Amino acid sequence: MTPSDLPEDLRQKAAHTVSQLRAAVAEYQDVTYANSLGAESMVLTDLIWREVPQIDVFTIDTGRLFPETYDLIERIQRKYQRGMRIFYPDGSQVEGWVARTHINGFRDSLEDRQACCGIRKIQPFRRALAGKAAWVTGIRKGQSASRALASPVEWDAEYGLHKISPMLDWSENDVWTYIRNLHLPYNSLHDSGFPSIGCAPCTRAIQPGEDARSGRWWWERSDSRECGLHPRRKAPALVAAPAMGD
Ligand code: SF4
Repeated sequence: MTPSDLPEDLRQKAAHTVSQLRAAVAEYQDVTYANSLGAESMVLTDLIWREVPQIDVFTIDTGRLFPETYDLIERIQRKYQRGMRIFYPDGSQVEGWVARTHINGFRDSLEDRQACCGIRKIQPFRRALAGKAAWVTGIRKGQSASRALASPVEWDAEYGLHKISPMLDWSENDVWTYIRNLHLPYNSLHDSGFPSIGCAPCTRAIQPGEDARSGRWWWERSDSRECGLHPRRKAPALVAAPAMGD
């Protein structure tokens, strides 16, 4: 089955996403996709490798991922017969941080958690974006109040390049209809109540009706639950915006 066999409304959404990706390549040339290995990432990876292969695809192995996530990476590589560049944290920085705290020191304080995310995610992410003109993310407006404020093309001042979000208007149902109709690989943890999957010690299943981000860093206040790849936005109506693609 191919995207042309999807229901008409979803086929149009997929075509719109592809047109935004092509426009990004035309405008910025050197575009990279930060694959978070979530459900949206399976759709975007499929669309990019089918339709816009000029965009390179990378992911980050923090060293604390679920076994199911490593299994997913292997299944993606086998299905598409393509390599996804994998970036890793700097080993000496991980060693230093663990020596200063302890192996699960990210639970001790928000500062310790953000330091761990900084070493294991943000620094590899910065290396992956170095020299790029734009990066692509699979965030959707429906994922959180903060993400509802996102625009398809934004200047990412934090990382100094453009940020392309071509799936903002996709619903969760759209994502899963695409995945199931096209028999795409996905993380098996999604079948066990994990809507958003990051590092194993910082992700848990959620109950029906809970915010999709509530299974991430659940011991923190809801307004601190972003990893730093997608900084939170402030809006007058949002006193405490729940906190991303990852
Ligand atoms: S999600 Fe948890 S284990 Fe992963 S980098 Fe952040 S704090 Fe560290």
